[in-house]
Amino acid sequence: GYRARSAYKLKQLDEEVGLFGPGNTVVDLGAAPGGWLQVASERVKANGKVVGVDLQRIRSLDLDNVETIRGDMTEDETKEKLTAIIGERGADAVVSDMAPNMTGEYSLDHARSVYLARQAFEVAQELLATGGDFAVKVFDGQDLADFRADMEKEFQYVRSIRPKASRDSSSEQYLVGKHFLTAPVRKGD
Ligand code: SAM
Repeated sequence: GYRARSAYKLKQLDEEVGLFGPGNTVVDLGAAPGGWLQVASERVKANGKVVGVDLQRIRSLDLDNVETIRGDMTEDETKEKLTAIIGERGADAVVSDMAPNMTGEYSLDHARSVYLARQAFEVAQELLATGGDFAVKVFDGQDLADFRADMEKEFQYVRSIRPKASRDSSSEQYLVGKHFLTAPVRKGD
């Protein structure tokens, strides 16, 4: 079984838009307790690699193709560690299920969620190989349209998906950017 029900959301995203394939390198932001890591590990197979990051310690999954980092994705130190692991070839997919601690105040929760989503977007632009994909959780609200417009500049197209596994009342959705247009020139390219 999976460690988190959210595993089914990632499965649905992957089925709808095709995020992973065998041999892929995948970065998973906000990865604890590890449900998405389990799904990604299955999809990339033994010759792929999945790197998960979370503020919380991720209890070992005992999967040979998974590596985890404990860190805050809003801090440069964590981003640098991740870049060092991913290396010059870049990642095939960056996925983020990061969520703020909910206060119940709709506009505050939305603003914090967009802030985390933008952090993930920044990391995706640093790490993705050209043609790579990015999926990010974000809560509904007034800043969503601007964020989506910014993503649209960097990907061939963007889709918004509300997985069935998300609670009906939930304001969460996932924006998926397909086919990253231009990876930055990386050392060694
Ligand atoms: N996808 C995960 C799974 O399937 O097990 C569930 C992720 S949970 C919904 C959201 C996670 O985002 C939490 O574990 C939280 O610690 C993490 N998170 C929130 N802010 C973060 C940050 N700044 N840096 C790293 N992780 C963060």
